[in-house]
Amino acid sequence: MRFIPKKINSRSQVFWFTVQIDAYALISSTIVTTLIMRLTGKYIPDIYLFTTVVPLIVATPIAYWLANLIYEITRIGQEIERIAYADDLTGIANRRAFFEHAPELIAQSKEAEATASVILVDIDNFKNINDTYGHSAGDAVLILVADILTQSMRDTRGLVGRIGGEEFALLVIHKEKSYVIGLADQILLNIRNATINARNAMISATASIGLAPHSAGADLDITLLCADKALYLAKNTGRDRVVILQSET
Ligand code: GH3
Ligand code: MG
Ligand code: MG
Repeated sequence: MRFIPKKINSRSQVFWFTVQIDAYALISSTIVTTLIMRLTGKYIPDIYLFTTVVPLIVATPIAYWLANLIYEITRIGQEIERIAYADDLTGIANRRAFFEHAPELIAQSKEAEATASVILVDIDNFKNINDTYGHSAGDAVLILVADILTQSMRDTRGLVGRIGGEEFALLVIHKEKSYVIGLADQILLNIRNATINARNAMISATASIGLAPHSAGADLDITLLCADKALYLAKNTGRDRVVILQSET
């Protein structure tokens, strides 16, 4: 039925849906009553009191119940979606969310004549952090890095996701190549300078970053592969650095 919405997102929409159904009930019952009186030739003015009050008494609770049901289903659906697309630990996009949303963003960036570059961030020697300070300290470092990445994207269009255990990916929409290079350098610095207090010790971490500035016409897979190669080089040339590789189309 066209007038039954698929989603109801707020209490005010529950109210307005109920009002809308009441209005439909009133109008239709008045039309039907008038038609019946015309056809039968019997005119009973007082019947209108009945045809307005009864539909309201019947329609209001049914409409209100239905609206609340749709509202609850909408909320449950949104919660399921949130759980399916958010990383449990850090709250940022998970791997699935990142790879599902990326193509849409790339298409938008093409329309806006901007470019989309990939930054891969992998925490250095993370296993040592777990082994030395414990798994929960490792988790705290992951949360910290996720926060730094989210903050770094505050004024930038794009995506941040945790795509593996201690590996994060950013898709950055930008006009100037120098912008995305500056962003990667800043992320490296912010991770290096951040500390976490665990087991009465100040833990700090570094990360290696692979950056693949987008080439016009390249698709996401190629840019990702290129960023992955750059990350590999960053790891093999001493870690705690950004390596940039331009993808070929
Ligand atoms: P590299 O510098 O070469 O990247 O070394 P690494 O130690 O960071 O990488 P490696 O792949 O050897 O180890 C990654 C570790 O990350 C192993 C795994 O137990 C840990 N890890 C993965 N997911 C989580 C998590 O959710 N929480 C914590 N605390 N550790 C995790
Ligand atoms: Mg690592
Ligand atoms: Mg890794």
